[in-house]
Amino acid sequence: MRRTIETEALFLGAVPYGETAVVATWLTEREGKLSTMVRGARSSRRRVNGALDYVHGVYLRAEDTGAELLTLKEAVVRHVRLGVTGDLDALAAAGTALRWVRHACPPRTPEPDVFQELSVLLDDLERQPSSAKGQGLLTFGLRLLRHVGYELVFDRCASCGRPRPPARRAHVDAGRGGVICRACHGGGEVLADDLLLRLARISSGEVAQLSRKEGDLVMRLVTRAMTSHTELAPPR
Ligand SMILES: [Zn+2]
Repeated sequence: MRRTIETEALFLGAVPYGETAVVATWLTEREGKLSTMVRGARSSRRRVNGALDYVHGVYLRAEDTGAELLTLKEAVVRHVRLGVTGDLDALAAAGTALRWVRHACPPRTPEPDVFQELSVLLDDLERQPSSAKGQGLLTFGLRLLRHVGYELVFDRCASCGRPRPPARRAHVDAGRGGVICRACHGGGEVLADDLLLRLARISSGEVAQLSRKEGDLVMRLVTRAMTSHTELAPPR
């Protein structure tokens, strides 16, 4: 069955296809992650002028025949975020978030919450590029993991499900899903009780502050979780 999809989208990346085409991957607002064939993209960039750039909000029209690849009909930049592209730290943070999404989101599975939260992150980076050094990216990473079914749990053992004893430190093994109790042979990072409580709040959508040092630790956990569950290559 042939149908036309019209949706807001964010460009996630492209790979060359044949002599003149590319396969572009998008996170769309309505249909989740989609890949589209863009014919002639390498000989004439006119049809997709600016749309194959990261971070901008794009209006996308594509034809879907049910095959793996859709055919791109139109891609128009609707929401320009020059504040992100003009700041190296902001661009790096945006690039990490988009890479996580490209690897963590399954194709053709609507993820409106991920689209929404990614848009919020990009808007925050646009308004305040220095927030790239803050915790916006970490917050997004923790919530992305939850939305795609790889939630890091901080209130119970991710292996046996037993509640975490209150007011104690605990081992967190991001590759095994979060806190791991002693009976389940927890290893890896040891996190303080109050940090575990804040991470549980952030993960469920609330706001909590992290120090710079805590942020670095959480970044390691999120990266570890992403690389354990997806094809994302571990950082070198
Ligand atoms: Zn356990």
